[in-house]
Amino acid sequence: MQNGTYSWGHDRRYNDFPTYFRALFSERVQKVSIDAGFTCPNRDGTKGTGGCAYCNNKTFKPTYCNLENSVTSQVEKGIAFFARKYKSMRFLAYFQAYTNTYAPIEDLKRLYEEALEHPKVVGLVISTRPDCIYPELLDYLAELSKKVYVMVELGVESHLDRTLDSINRGHSFAEAAWAIEETAKRGINNCAHMILGLPGETREELLDQAKTISKLPVKNLKLHQLQIHKNTLLEKQFQQHPENFDLYTADEYIDLVIDYLELLNPEIIVERFISQAPPEMLIAPKWGLKNFEFVAKVEKRLKERDTWQGKRFI
Ligand code: SF4
Repeated sequence: MQNGTYSWGHDRRYNDFPTYFRALFSERVQKVSIDAGFTCPNRDGTKGTGGCAYCNNKTFKPTYCNLENSVTSQVEKGIAFFARKYKSMRFLAYFQAYTNTYAPIEDLKRLYEEALEHPKVVGLVISTRPDCIYPELLDYLAELSKKVYVMVELGVESHLDRTLDSINRGHSFAEAAWAIEETAKRGINNCAHMILGLPGETREELLDQAKTISKLPVKNLKLHQLQIHKNTLLEKQFQQHPENFDLYTADEYIDLVIDYLELLNPEIIVERFISQAPPEMLIAPKWGLKNFEFVAKVEKRLKERDTWQGKRFI
């Protein structure tokens, strides 16, 4: 740190996504969530049928071939919601539900480009599994990245294959590392999504994760605490063997996040620390904290501990 400013150019104690994003776009930018009717190879039998142990996306829904609400109408509805408040706001179409690259490439192009047709949409955020991207798609997204903002959000979840096996992810960490390398190589913004607190992972292993992630060209990072949702395999396992779960209290998790940040490469932009499941879906842990409240607590603790992202990064 020099003259009150960290290597990321401001005096917040971590390289936070909102500040980065405000600098990138001159106007306010908001994500608009799109369900384009994709399914998931870990549910339709290609990789598996049960899905990931923590996932409860089980309800039937129309496919991308016969969407009830077209991408255009979802974009328009989402924009209308925010545009009343902020007239000059711009939007990113967030392809969020299930695996948003799991379709033939011509269908993907049609759906992504339909979202980009709206004059207020300035880019795409595409959430997917690391094993559902491939060179032809990456080359297309690299071309698109030259014209609009594109972020590929990758469900990495853990750096340990034994954990990925036990939660039935159906892919390895090497596949996630490949996806991170290949997006970065082509100039596509990537985001690694990690879950902290999966069964069987110790605190030391989670801190090793920060070191492992730091060695990869990860542009953005989303950390989430493990949450047990209703109607998931994890819920059953939790009811049968609660002793196998080491769920953090909010205070313990704050200190874990700070220890993790200290080891993290300062170039990685941190987008989130927690997720918030709707209360009616959540079994545990019930912290009752909103994202902005958690961020304020992390910032306060960073100051108390007089530390910052990358302080112990080697
Ligand atoms: S979490 Fe994602 S990859 Fe896993 S089963 Fe659910 S939709 Fe599929």
